[in-house]
Amino acid sequence: MSEADWAESREHIADALRAGWAILKAGGTALDAVQSTILVLEDSPHFNAGYGAALTEDGLHELDASIMDGTTLAAGAVAGVRRVRNPIRAARAVMEGGRAVLLIGDAADRFADQAGLAMVQPDYFTTQRRVEALASLKRRALDGTAAKASEAEKHGTVGAVARDAKGRLAAGTSTGGFNNKPTGRVGDSPVIGAGTYARDGVCAVSCTGQGEIFIRRVAAYDVAARMSYGGQTLEQASNTLVFETLKSHGIGAGMIVLGAEGDPLAPYNTLGMYRGWVTTAGEMTVATHHELHHLGAVA
Ligand code: ASP
Repeated sequence: MSEADWAESREHIADALRAGWAILKAGGTALDAVQSTILVLEDSPHFNAGYGAALTEDGLHELDASIMDGTTLAAGAVAGVRRVRNPIRAARAVMEGGRAVLLIGDAADRFADQAGLAMVQPDYFTTQRRVEALASLKRRALDGTAAKASEAEKHGTVGAVARDAKGRLAAGTSTGGFNNKPTGRVGDSPVIGAGTYARDGVCAVSCTGQGEIFIRRVAAYDVAARMSYGGQTLEQASNTLVFETLKSHGIGAGMIVLGAEGDPLAPYNTLGMYRGWVTTAGEMTVATHHELHHLGAVA
């Protein structure tokens, strides 16, 4: 990516944070803040969710998303959707519908349509960058260098965690999975407890990295379990997952986590991970690699 791309990605993260903060500042819920933050990231071409999402091995987009309310433990998710413009909205609609936690494929798209959400043609999600990344990964698969593909070529899932003024926690995640993924494959992002989890008084978690391992390790829930049964702090629990449990599988992993008191952490074991946060005092920070960009008070 060019320096201009990095700068614009940071700007879009800041926009996403502003959208979430506006809701929290007005006394809104953590759940609404999570949804609006993810919505902005889904609409940005810089991340692997919504517009600009990864392509399957067949050159299709199959999008996964989930959202969870830490107060009621209500949750909603969609997997393998191709037509709803913002999968996070579809996940929320599934949650509000109350009849299912996870809807898949065409039925999930139809549900979103019936719920009145904006629908698009599948090629709406396609960007030149992803087409090139798919071609490059297919070449790598042929010449046996797939393992050397950069994180940016493969990943870019988006997520958000929030705590509101009443102490309610929420988490959400949205993704196109990874470039060249098997058609029909579902990752951890729409699996509650694997890629997303929130429980008031404990933590809110959203994950990124090779979903198969996060599912097998029930990663997001394991952070919460380590804290509630194991007495670990948020930092101990999330670091154990990212630097020990998940890393032991040889994968790049990261997560954004928030404790009951609202302190954010974003551990990752790769070179970098897009991230950003707003403190309770309204101060915003964004980062892609080690260096933090303090942007001051949110306007
Ligand atoms: N966790 C996502 C998935 O497996 C991919 C990623 O975060 O890079 O679908």
